[in-house]
Amino acid sequence: MTRPIIGILGGGQLGMMLSNAAKKIGIKTHIFCPEENCPASSVSDFFTKEDYNNKEAIEIFSEQVDYITYEFENIPIHTIDFIKNKKKIRPGKKSLLLTQDRLTEKKFLNDLNIPIAPYKSIETADDIKDAHREFNECIIKTRTLGYDGKGQESTSKKRNYEKIFKSINLKSIIEKKIPFEFEVSVIIARDIENNLCHYPIGKNIHKNHILKDTFSPIQLTEIQINKLISYSEKIITELNHIGVLAVEFFVTEDNILVNEIAPRVHNSGHWTIDACDVSQFEQHILCVAGERVKDPILKNNAHMINLIGDEINNWASKSNSENIKIHLYNKEEIKEGRKMGHVTYLFNKDHLFE
Ligand code: ATP
Ligand code: MG
Repeated sequence: MTRPIIGILGGGQLGMMLSNAAKKIGIKTHIFCPEENCPASSVSDFFTKEDYNNKEAIEIFSEQVDYITYEFENIPIHTIDFIKNKKKIRPGKKSLLLTQDRLTEKKFLNDLNIPIAPYKSIETADDIKDAHREFNECIIKTRTLGYDGKGQESTSKKRNYEKIFKSINLKSIIEKKIPFEFEVSVIIARDIENNLCHYPIGKNIHKNHILKDTFSPIQLTEIQINKLISYSEKIITELNHIGVLAVEFFVTEDNILVNEIAPRVHNSGHWTIDACDVSQFEQHILCVAGERVKDPILKNNAHMINLIGDEINNWASKSNSENIKIHLYNKEEIKEGRKMGHVTYLFNKDHLFE
């Protein structure tokens, strides 16, 4: 059987790990990215360095590959529209359209009766004032283009709402700051025949709004697990999503709320490379290639630590051992807050995380 060539829009670390996973199962990848020395360029079979606005380049790229996927959700929608054969795009356009704007994403979740943090769309300074009156502590988030907490501001103190309103230069929402006990994410996959599978659920610790640690699996009650999985299954099915998707949740004392949906492989699923027989990256490639999802088998419990900024310097010259797996993203420049790599510590399956 000749296996398809998969085109990937975006050449960051997720594109790199998707290419590595594809290679492992004999599938070729073609990365399309505006930056020549991106993490994925040296590991993919084919590489196009072009801008996402270059219609002709996208057309040529889409003819050279059998399917097209993406490694980040902020791909301009017009880039997707340049692709003539829409059937090649997996996941489809709906996952992108709904998740590129926090407001449409929240409305989508509301329509599905899935609990989320209460929010308001900011149209006037009064919306900010009302939100503080109703929710007390709040977070303002840009509707589009936010990642790693960029475009977010906590507004816990009573402030000059008019001034805050004037300082907002992108369309934004304001939501209640949730006093959560902890955060978890569900990594779930769906194939073209609507078969689903998910990974053991991990707990996420953020520092400065950036993911720092994931511990998986963690101990949850059966009720919590059922809610987390059923919400995630509802979301992936309603989106008609082909491939891997991540749902981030807040777990409070008595409830489970969705924070956001990432329509792609996710940082909190990186531990699956070393601790499962099928990683989230391989799973995504299988789904995009039209193959069946594979229920992952957990080999080890895992603690993943992101290497952010110059933390990479402590690890760059170290080697892997049986229980410590180092992943470097080969980024050209170290920047504060930039994800430069990750390390996964492996444990026996009887090792419990709190
Ligand atoms: P990422 O790219 O890491 O997913 P993001 O920029 O899309 O980040 P969010 O996921 O919305 O932003 O928020 C990042 C983190 O900030 C959350 O994981 C959580 O720790 C904190 N946070 C966001 N919204 C809230 C909230 N309403 N209440 C409490 N904490 C929040
Ligand atoms: Mg998030």
